[in-house]
Amino acid sequence: MLKIKLLKNFSWPLKIATQEIEITRLYPEKMMELPAAERGIHELDATTCIGCSSCARVCPNNCIEMVHFKFGSPLKNKKMQFPQIDFGRCMFCGLCVDECPVECLKMGKKVIMAGWERKDIIKGPEFLATKRFSAKEVTDLEAEGKRIAAEKAAAKKAADAKKAAEAKNASKEGAADANGAAKKKAAATEAKPKEGGAA
Ligand code: SF4
Ligand code: SF4
Repeated sequence: MLKIKLLKNFSWPLKIATQEIEITRLYPEKMMELPAAERGIHELDATTCIGCSSCARVCPNNCIEMVHFKFGSPLKNKKMQFPQIDFGRCMFCGLCVDECPVECLKMGKKVIMAGWERKDIIKGPEFLATKRFSAKEVTDLEAEGKRIAAEKAAAKKAADAKKAAEAKNASKEGAADANGAAKKKAAATEAKPKEGGAA
């Protein structure tokens, strides 16, 4: 009985040695394959984020803060505010992702976030943004924004001027009508005594 037990105990190390069965992995060099539904570190598309703060508002652990990031779209995100996540508090519930109205936030597959200090696991858009604009693209978008604003201002000015001109014309016509009516009334008043005299 003892012999059988001993043989069994030796058979396992022999199997490992001969068949190269993996017992431990050389982490982090060798990562395990993550399941499809794995919720890892968030990924942000800074080119479409509108800076609405919905993700920050819905977070049950209050771990999202909106911070400035200059490589987003100044046309879509006028204040250039993007989420920064404190992974020391995050429970990876995914509510922020579900709440995002433009689907620019998703749970990624990266899971390594260790750091030496507490602040190392607070990750801003610089780290989270997997899609971002270049500095030149941001400058072009800003110029485009200014052009659109100038066009809108010019269109508004033209519309206001047209309205004012129409109002002026209307008041002129009104005055002319009133003048005509007054003349007619005066003529009618002059005509009345004659009619009375004839009767
Ligand atoms: S996954 Fe959940 S806890 Fe983490 S930032 Fe999003 S809403 Fe907050
Ligand atoms: S990530 Fe989504 S929910 Fe959060 S600020 Fe950007 S657009 Fe809004």
